[in-house]
Amino acid sequence: MSERKTIALIAHDQMKDEMAAFALRHQAILSQWRIVATGTTGGRVQEACPSLDVTRLKSGPLGGDQQIGAMIAQEEIGILIFFVDPLTSMPHDVDVKALMRLAIVYDTPMALNRATAEIVLQAQLQ
Ligand code: PGA
Repeated sequence: MSERKTIALIAHDQMKDEMAAFALRHQAILSQWRIVATGTTGGRVQEACPSLDVTRLKSGPLGGDQQIGAMIAQEEIGILIFFVDPLTSMPHDVDVKALMRLAIVYDTPMALNRATAEIVLQAQLQ
């Protein structure tokens, strides 16, 4: 495990564009972090920001969310940014609830939308 702190990124469905744009906008801050992401999200972030260190886990539906959950339980995650798509039906609902529960248990900063994610990242600069 790298000595850098680790940030976890997940974006559901139509939120992947927003995550890629978010990563591009905050590339300078994110370059100070080790990034783990679910498979497709990680691919999109890596494509938008080739210089970032992105570790791609399994795709969410194949267990990538659960891999991030395990890392939260091992206290390896400093920040979780999880852009849930509010305009789709709720097939990911169990994954959202599982990660929210672990983030609460381990007191991990967790952003579920862009506004909160901006605040959490800015707080790292202070
Ligand atoms: P993905 O996984 O980044 O591989 O799409 C996210 C999810 O759907 O949970």
